[in-house]
Amino acid sequence: MFSYKGTVIIKYSMKALTGLRVGGSKENFDIGGTDNPVIKTLGMIENYDGRGNNLPEGAPYIPGSSLKGKIRSLVEWAKGRVDYMIGKANNDVEKAGKPCVCGRCEVCKVFGTGDAKTIESLKLSELPGPPRLRVFDAYPTWESIERLRGAFGENIFTEIKTENAINRLTSRANPRKVERVPAGVVFFGEMAFHLFAKEDPELLRVVFEGMRLLEDDYLGGYGSRGSGKVRFENIEVILRPKAYYFGERVEERLTQKTTVQDILADYDNIKQKLSGLFNA
Ligand SMILES: [Zn+2]
Repeated sequence: MFSYKGTVIIKYSMKALTGLRVGGSKENFDIGGTDNPVIKTLGMIENYDGRGNNLPEGAPYIPGSSLKGKIRSLVEWAKGRVDYMIGKANNDVEKAGKPCVCGRCEVCKVFGTGDAKTIESLKLSELPGPPRLRVFDAYPTWESIERLRGAFGENIFTEIKTENAINRLTSRANPRKVERVPAGVVFFGEMAFHLFAKEDPELLRVVFEGMRLLEDDYLGGYGSRGSGKVRFENIEVILRPKAYYFGERVEERLTQKTTVQDILADYDNIKQKLSGLFNA
Protein backbone atom coordinates (compact mmCIF):
# COMPACT_ATOMS: atom_id res chain seq x y z
CA MET A 1 0.00 0.00 0.00
CA PHE A 2 2.93 2.38 0.64
CA SER A 3 5.96 2.21 -1.57
CA TYR A 4 8.31 5.13 -2.15
CA LYS A 5 8.39 6.06 -5.85
CA GLY A 6 10.12 9.40 -5.92
CA THR A 7 9.85 13.05 -4.97
CA VAL A 8 8.30 16.06 -6.64
CA ILE A 9 10.23 19.30 -6.13
CA ILE A 10 8.29 22.54 -6.35
CA LYS A 11 10.51 25.59 -6.87
CA TYR A 12 8.87 28.97 -6.67
CA SER A 13 9.38 32.69 -6.27
CA MET A 14 7.06 34.56 -3.95
CA LYS A 15 6.69 38.30 -4.16
CA ALA A 16 5.51 40.46 -1.28
CA LEU A 17 2.80 42.65 -2.85
CA THR A 18 2.36 44.53 0.43
CA GLY A 19 4.57 44.83 3.49
CA LEU A 20 5.12 41.47 5.15
CA ARG A 21 5.28 40.60 8.85
CA VAL A 22 6.35 37.08 9.56
CA GLY A 23 7.09 37.37 13.25
CA GLY A 24 10.29 36.75 15.13
CA SER A 25 10.83 36.70 18.86
CA LYS A 26 10.94 39.89 20.84
CA GLU A 27 13.99 38.94 22.90
CA ASN A 28 16.26 39.35 19.91
CA PHE A 29 15.27 42.96 19.45
CA ASP A 30 16.56 46.23 20.87
CA ILE A 31 14.77 47.74 23.84
CA GLY A 32 12.53 50.53 22.65
CA GLY A 33 12.12 48.74 19.35
CA THR A 34 9.01 47.70 17.54
CA ASP A 35 6.35 45.17 18.40
CA ASN A 36 6.63 41.61 17.06
CA PRO A 37 9.61 42.17 14.81
CA VAL A 38 10.20 40.35 11.56
CA ILE A 39 12.14 37.09 11.84
CA LYS A 40 15.72 37.32 10.53
CA THR A 41 18.72 35.09 9.96
CA LEU A 42 21.12 34.89 12.91
CA GLY A 43 24.25 34.29 10.84
CA MET A 44 25.52 34.55 7.29
CA ILE A 45 24.52 31.74 4.94
CA GLU A 46 27.26 31.10 2.38
CA ASN A 47 26.25 30.53 -1.22
CA TYR A 48 22.64 30.45 -0.13
CA ASP A 49 21.25 30.72 -3.64
CA GLY A 50 23.70 28.42 -5.39
CA ARG A 51 24.99 31.42 -7.36
CA GLY A 52 27.88 32.25 -5.04
CA ASN A 53 26.08 34.94 -3.02
CA ASN A 54 26.21 35.05 0.77
CA LEU A 55 22.99 35.91 2.57
CA PRO A 56 23.98 38.46 5.24
CA GLU A 57 23.12 38.10 8.89
CA GLY A 58 19.90 39.91 9.74
CA ALA A 59 18.20 39.24 6.43
CA PRO A 60 14.47 38.53 6.72
CA TYR A 61 13.27 35.07 5.72
CA ILE A 62 10.08 33.05 5.75
CA PRO A 63 10.17 29.95 7.92
CA GLY A 64 8.84 26.88 6.15
CA SER A 65 6.66 26.22 9.19
CA SER A 66 4.89 29.58 8.76
CA LEU A 67 4.19 28.96 5.11
CA LYS A 68 3.12 25.35 5.65
CA GLY A 69 0.91 26.20 8.62
CA LYS A 70 -0.85 29.01 6.79
CA ILE A 71 -1.45 26.99 3.65
CA ARG A 72 -2.73 24.08 5.73
CA SER A 73 -5.19 26.23 7.64
CA LEU A 74 -6.61 27.68 4.40
CA VAL A 75 -6.95 24.25 2.83
CA GLU A 76 -8.71 22.99 5.98
CA TRP A 77 -11.27 25.76 5.70
CA ALA A 78 -11.75 25.13 1.99
CA LYS A 79 -12.13 21.36 2.36
CA GLY A 80 -14.54 21.36 5.29
CA ARG A 81 -12.00 20.12 7.86
CA VAL A 82 -12.66 23.04 10.20
CA ASP A 83 -16.37 22.18 10.08
CA TYR A 84 -15.40 18.62 10.98
CA MET A 85 -13.31 19.72 13.98
CA ILE A 86 -16.06 22.07 15.20
CA GLY A 87 -18.51 19.18 14.99
CA LYS A 88 -16.23 16.95 17.03
CA ALA A 89 -15.21 19.51 19.65
CA ASN A 90 -18.26 19.49 21.89
CA ASN A 91 -18.23 23.29 22.37
CA ASP A 92 -14.57 23.23 23.41
CA VAL A 93 -13.30 26.31 21.53
CA GLU A 94 -9.65 25.36 21.96
CA LYS A 95 -10.24 21.95 20.42
CA ALA A 96 -12.49 23.22 17.65
CA GLY A 97 -9.77 25.52 16.33
CA LYS A 98 -7.05 22.88 16.18
CA PRO A 99 -5.74 21.35 12.93
CA CYS A 100 -7.65 18.34 11.63
CA VAL A 101 -6.62 15.14 13.41
CA CYS A 102 -8.81 12.64 11.57
CA GLY A 103 -5.80 10.93 9.98
CA ARG A 104 -7.90 9.98 6.94
CA CYS A 105 -8.49 13.15 4.94
CA GLU A 106 -6.28 14.58 2.21
CA VAL A 107 -5.08 17.39 4.50
CA CYS A 108 -3.88 14.94 7.15
CA LYS A 109 -2.08 12.91 4.48
CA VAL A 110 -0.39 15.87 2.82
CA PHE A 111 0.53 17.92 5.90
CA GLY A 112 0.64 15.24 8.58
CA THR A 113 -1.48 14.50 11.59
CA GLY A 114 0.00 14.91 15.02
CA ASP A 115 -2.63 13.00 16.93
CA ALA A 116 -1.08 9.75 18.21
CA LYS A 117 -4.39 8.49 19.59
CA THR A 118 -6.07 8.69 16.20
CA ILE A 119 -3.21 6.88 14.50
CA GLU A 120 -3.26 4.11 17.11
CA SER A 121 -6.97 3.58 16.52
CA LEU A 122 -6.52 2.99 12.77
CA LYS A 123 -5.94 -0.34 11.05
CA LEU A 124 -2.78 -0.76 8.99
CA SER A 125 -4.79 -0.36 5.78
CA GLU A 126 -6.30 2.92 7.03
CA LEU A 127 -3.07 4.66 8.04
CA PRO A 128 -2.44 8.04 6.40
CA GLY A 129 1.24 7.23 5.79
CA PRO A 130 4.09 9.68 6.27
CA PRO A 131 3.25 13.36 5.71
CA ARG A 132 3.95 13.91 2.02
CA LEU A 133 4.94 17.56 2.06
CA ARG A 134 8.08 19.33 3.29
CA VAL A 135 8.22 23.11 3.11
CA PHE A 136 11.66 24.67 3.40
CA ASP A 137 12.51 28.17 4.56
CA ALA A 138 12.33 30.81 1.82
CA TYR A 139 15.00 33.48 1.44
CA PRO A 140 15.06 36.84 -0.33
CA THR A 141 16.62 36.75 -3.79
CA TRP A 142 20.01 38.37 -4.12
CA GLU A 143 18.45 41.09 -6.29
CA SER A 144 16.05 41.90 -3.45
CA ILE A 145 18.88 42.01 -0.90
CA GLU A 146 20.76 44.49 -3.08
CA ARG A 147 17.68 46.63 -3.59
CA LEU A 148 17.05 46.76 0.16
CA ARG A 149 20.69 47.70 0.78
CA GLY A 150 20.34 50.51 -1.71
CA ALA A 151 17.18 51.77 -0.03
CA PHE A 152 18.00 51.40 3.67
CA GLY A 153 21.79 50.99 4.00
CA GLU A 154 24.18 48.12 4.62
CA ASN A 155 22.48 45.95 7.25
CA ILE A 156 18.90 47.16 7.36
CA PHE A 157 16.42 45.09 5.42
CA THR A 158 13.06 46.13 6.85
CA GLU A 159 10.86 49.20 7.02
CA ILE A 160 9.28 50.64 10.16
CA LYS A 161 5.68 51.62 9.58
CA THR A 162 3.70 53.68 12.08
CA GLU A 163 0.10 52.74 12.68
CA ASN A 164 -2.29 54.79 14.76
CA ALA A 165 -5.10 53.76 17.02
CA ILE A 166 -7.44 56.74 17.13
CA ASN A 167 -9.43 57.57 20.25
CA ARG A 168 -13.04 57.94 19.08
CA LEU A 169 -13.82 60.83 21.44
CA THR A 170 -10.64 62.88 21.54
CA SER A 171 -9.32 61.95 18.09
CA ARG A 172 -5.95 61.55 19.74
CA ALA A 173 -3.66 59.14 17.93
CA ASN A 174 -1.88 56.40 19.79
CA PRO A 175 1.00 55.38 17.50
CA ARG A 176 2.49 51.94 17.29
CA LYS A 177 5.56 51.00 15.30
CA VAL A 178 5.37 48.00 13.04
CA GLU A 179 8.32 46.36 11.34
CA ARG A 180 7.72 44.90 7.89
CA VAL A 181 9.57 43.49 4.93
CA PRO A 182 8.82 46.12 2.28
CA ALA A 183 6.52 45.41 -0.64
CA GLY A 184 8.31 44.22 -3.75
CA VAL A 185 10.78 41.92 -2.04
CA VAL A 186 10.96 38.55 -3.78
CA PHE A 187 11.64 35.35 -1.84
CA PHE A 188 12.49 32.00 -3.36
CA GLY A 189 11.93 28.60 -1.88
CA GLU A 190 11.35 24.93 -2.41
CA MET A 191 8.88 22.31 -1.32
CA ALA A 192 9.33 18.57 -1.59
CA PHE A 193 6.43 16.14 -1.97
CA HIS A 194 7.22 12.47 -1.50
CA LEU A 195 5.23 9.90 -3.46
CA PHE A 196 4.26 6.88 -1.38
CA ALA A 197 0.81 5.79 -2.48
CA LYS A 198 -1.32 5.47 -5.61
CA GLU A 199 -3.47 8.39 -4.51
CA ASP A 200 -0.50 10.76 -4.06
CA PRO A 201 -0.47 12.13 -7.63
CA GLU A 202 -3.96 13.50 -6.86
CA LEU A 203 -3.01 14.61 -3.34
CA LEU A 204 -0.29 16.90 -4.71
CA ARG A 205 -3.03 19.03 -6.29
CA VAL A 206 -3.94 20.13 -2.75
CA VAL A 207 -0.58 21.90 -2.40
CA PHE A 208 -1.22 24.08 -5.45
CA GLU A 209 -4.80 24.76 -4.33
CA GLY A 210 -3.39 25.90 -0.98
CA MET A 211 -0.85 28.17 -2.66
CA ARG A 212 -3.65 29.73 -4.72
CA LEU A 213 -5.79 30.21 -1.60
CA LEU A 214 -2.90 31.96 0.13
CA GLU A 215 -2.67 34.53 -2.66
CA ASP A 216 -6.14 35.79 -1.72
CA ASP A 217 -5.36 35.71 1.98
CA TYR A 218 -2.24 36.82 3.81
CA LEU A 219 1.00 35.50 5.21
CA GLY A 220 2.25 36.52 8.66
CA GLY A 221 0.57 39.08 10.85
CA TYR A 222 -1.66 42.15 10.40
CA GLY A 223 -3.37 40.70 7.35
CA SER A 224 -6.66 42.46 8.00
CA ARG A 225 -4.71 45.72 8.05
CA GLY A 226 -3.04 45.35 4.70
CA SER A 227 0.08 43.31 5.41
CA GLY A 228 1.03 39.95 4.04
CA LYS A 229 -0.31 39.80 0.48
CA VAL A 230 1.92 37.56 -1.60
CA ARG A 231 1.98 36.19 -5.13
CA PHE A 232 3.73 33.05 -6.33
CA GLU A 233 5.67 33.40 -9.57
CA ASN A 234 7.81 31.19 -11.81
CA ILE A 235 6.72 27.86 -10.45
CA GLU A 236 8.75 24.88 -11.58
CA VAL A 237 7.61 21.32 -10.93
CA ILE A 238 10.36 18.70 -11.10
CA LEU A 239 10.02 14.94 -10.76
CA ARG A 240 12.87 12.97 -9.24
CA PRO A 241 11.97 9.27 -9.48
CA LYS A 242 13.53 6.95 -6.93
CA ALA A 243 16.37 5.98 -9.30
CA TYR A 244 17.54 9.64 -9.28
CA TYR A 245 18.69 9.17 -5.68
CA PHE A 246 20.79 6.20 -6.74
CA GLY A 247 22.73 8.20 -9.28
CA GLU A 248 20.65 7.86 -12.46
CA ARG A 249 20.09 10.99 -14.53
CA VAL A 250 16.35 10.69 -14.55
CA GLU A 251 15.23 14.07 -13.20
CA GLU A 252 12.40 15.47 -15.29
CA ARG A 253 10.89 18.93 -15.36
CA LEU A 254 7.15 18.32 -15.52
CA THR A 255 6.17 21.92 -16.06
CA GLN A 256 7.13 25.54 -15.52
CA LYS A 257 4.45 28.19 -15.25
CA THR A 258 4.15 31.85 -14.35
CA THR A 259 1.23 31.48 -11.94
CA VAL A 260 -0.29 28.91 -9.60
CA GLN A 261 -3.53 29.18 -11.56
CA ASP A 262 -1.63 28.03 -14.68
CA ILE A 263 -0.31 25.01 -12.78
CA LEU A 264 -3.81 24.11 -11.61
CA ALA A 265 -5.17 24.45 -15.15
CA ASP A 266 -2.46 22.02 -16.33
CA TYR A 267 -2.68 19.74 -13.32
CA ASP A 268 -4.20 16.70 -15.02
CA ASN A 269 -1.07 16.40 -17.17
CA ILE A 270 1.16 16.45 -14.09
CA LYS A 271 -1.04 13.89 -12.39
CA GLN A 272 -0.93 11.57 -15.39
CA LYS A 273 2.87 11.58 -15.45
CA LEU A 274 3.10 10.91 -11.72
CA SER A 275 0.52 8.13 -11.88
CA GLY A 276 2.76 6.38 -14.39
CA LEU A 277 5.21 5.69 -11.57
CA PHE A 278 2.61 3.62 -9.77
CA ASN A 279 1.40 1.72 -12.81
CA ALA A 280 4.87 0.60 -13.90
ZN1 LIG B 1 -7.92 15.08 8.58
